[in-house]
Amino acid sequence: MMLPARHLLAIEGLHQTAIAGLLDLAESYLLLNRSGKTQRDLLKGRTLINLFFEDSTRTRTSFELAGKRLGADVINMSVSTSSVNKGETLLDTAATLNAMNCDLLVVRHGQSGAPALLAQKVDAAVINAGDGTHEHPTQALLDALTIRRAKGRIEGLTVAICGDVAHSRVARSNLHCLTALNARVRLIGPPTLMPAEVARLGAEVFHDMAEGLKGADVVMMLRLQRERMSGGQVPSAREFFRFYGLDAQKLGLAAPDAIVMHPGPMNRGVEIDSAVADDPARSVIAEQVEMGVAVRMAVLDILARQQPRLA
Ligand code: ASP
Repeated sequence: MMLPARHLLAIEGLHQTAIAGLLDLAESYLLLNRSGKTQRDLLKGRTLINLFFEDSTRTRTSFELAGKRLGADVINMSVSTSSVNKGETLLDTAATLNAMNCDLLVVRHGQSGAPALLAQKVDAAVINAGDGTHEHPTQALLDALTIRRAKGRIEGLTVAICGDVAHSRVARSNLHCLTALNARVRLIGPPTLMPAEVARLGAEVFHDMAEGLKGADVVMMLRLQRERMSGGQVPSAREFFRFYGLDAQKLGLAAPDAIVMHPGPMNRGVEIDSAVADDPARSVIAEQVEMGVAVRMAVLDILARQQPRLA
């Protein structure tokens, strides 16, 4: 299979067959990981740099693990240890990385569009690991794989994405991914946390959890992203939980076999109750993390194969 571009910057614009191909490859990596085997030849002698301008636990670790399992040399650069703190611009950083002959560059940045800018300046294949409120493509892919494995399909399912949609790159990537795969997407949240453009993107919008959750097959909770708020968008954590936090009672409105997802990090007691997050019968949050490694192996594999230097 092939991706339409040299980089993975967004899900928007990816065709259903490309997404399905990535998920199939990721599933084969999942089985390999579970068998305890590795495939260390694929990226042998190649360099993967994790360049993170924002915090991350799961994403950075899983890209590191994915790169190592495929045999790459993996280097983690975080802002606190790089020259960016000394005033180096994004493009100077790009030139430095280029001079190091980096093959795969994983970038997280607080500014929407920063990975796309870097992609124009470096020879490496760039993978967006989350840019501002724009996209987080590998998160949507791992979410899709989690849903496909739990439900056996994605087409025709009703997926409710709930909470702080406005600041969520996870919501945007998921919306593009799930609609491309023919799921029905509902977005639920207070009007202050619902971006104006969402209706245009083909989702149904709800401001009431009771209505939006009705019969949903998948309930995906989002973190309340206070670091991206300029203030006043949410009255208090306690009030937010009362109206939009997922607890057993609200989950009872969804389909009886609905699964519960969260990209992490979770604010327990704010957008999700621990009793739901930790319920092994409903929550697939741990599976999401496992799928993350497999999906990132698939993405690295495909982009490396597509890169002329690696051919
Ligand atoms: N970890 C995800 C992200 O980086 C979700 C979140 O931070 O709430 O977008």
